[in-house]
Amino acid sequence: MTTTAPSGSPADDRSPASGSVGGPLAVAARATELTKVYGQGETRVVALDGVSTAFHRGRFTAIMGPSGSGKSTLMHCMAGLDTVSAGSARIGDTELSSLKDKQLTRLRRDKVGFIFQAFNLLPTLTALENITLPMDIAGRKPDKAWLDQVIRTVGLSGRLSHRPAQLSGGQQQRVAVARALAARPEIIFADEPTGNLDSRSGAEVLGFLRNSVRELGQTVVMVTHDPVAASYADRVIFLADGRIVDEMHAPTAEGVLERMRLFPAAGPAATPDPTGAPAAPRGAGAHAR
Ligand code: ADP
Repeated sequence: MTTTAPSGSPADDRSPASGSVGGPLAVAARATELTKVYGQGETRVVALDGVSTAFHRGRFTAIMGPSGSGKSTLMHCMAGLDTVSAGSARIGDTELSSLKDKQLTRLRRDKVGFIFQAFNLLPTLTALENITLPMDIAGRKPDKAWLDQVIRTVGLSGRLSHRPAQLSGGQQQRVAVARALAARPEIIFADEPTGNLDSRSGAEVLGFLRNSVRELGQTVVMVTHDPVAASYADRVIFLADGRIVDEMHAPTAEGVLERMRLFPAAGPAATPDPTGAPAAPRGAGAHAR
C-alpha cells in the first residue's frame, strides 16, 4: 500500500482473547466441528471438514486461505446463508440449524451485518437512505445517537445527501460499512470488502472497520486474500482444504505473508481466484504498524 497508516489502522490496542475488565471475552459466534459437504458420489466436495473456532465479541478476525479452501463456505454457514452438514454454527446462544426459515431471516436481519466486495447500494437513494434502508424495511426506528456515532466513525458526515454515483468507491464502501453497523448487529461478516478498491481507499475502509471494533465494540469477521488487510485484524485464521491449519494473533502484514509462505497451499498465488480477487498480496509489507 502506498499510503500512510490511516486513523484506526492496526494499533497496539489488540490483545489475544482477554476482555477489557480482565475476564474472558464473550463469544459472538462459534463454529463447532462444522462440516459442510456439497454434492454426492463423484461430485462430493468436503468444503469444511470439522472446523471449530470462536469469534469473540469486540474482536476483528480475518479468514485467509487459497481459493477453494472453504472461506466463503465458513462465512456463509456462520451467517446463516447456507446450511451445515454436521456440527454446529451459533450466533450468540442461537444454534442456526434449529431455526425455521422465517426465524433465520429475522436473525440475519437483526443480528448480522454484511459487507460485500460489490458495495450493493441502491443508486436512487442517498447515502443516508442507503444506511437506514435495512431498518426502514424492518420497520425499526434508527437510534439517532448511535447512527450519528456510526456516521462520524466512518467519516461520512458531509456526504449523507449524496447518491452513490456522486461518491468514490471508497466512500460507497464506507456507506456499506455504516449500513452494516447501523442496526448494531451481533456480528459483521465482510467478504473481501476492499477487493474493488484502490489501496488508499482500501486502507481507509479497513481503518474504519478497525475503528468500529475499537470504538464501537463491533465484532467483525472478514475474508481476505490480502496480508495488509489481514494486518488490521486482531487474529487471522488460515484455512486449507476445509480445515483451520493455523492461527495468528496481532498479525503484521509481513508476519501473515511469512506464514503464507510456510503454508504454500494457503498462499494467495497458489490458485487464481475465480472472483477476480488479487492473485498476489497488494503492497504487502508497506504498511508498518
Ligand atoms: P473459498 O471461499 O476459500 O474460495 P469456497 O468456500 O467457495 O472456498 O469453496 C470450498 C469448496 O467447496 C470448493 O472446492 C468449492 O468448489 C466447493 N463449493 C463451494 N460452494 C459450492 C456449491 N454451491 N456446490 C458445490 N461445491 C461448492
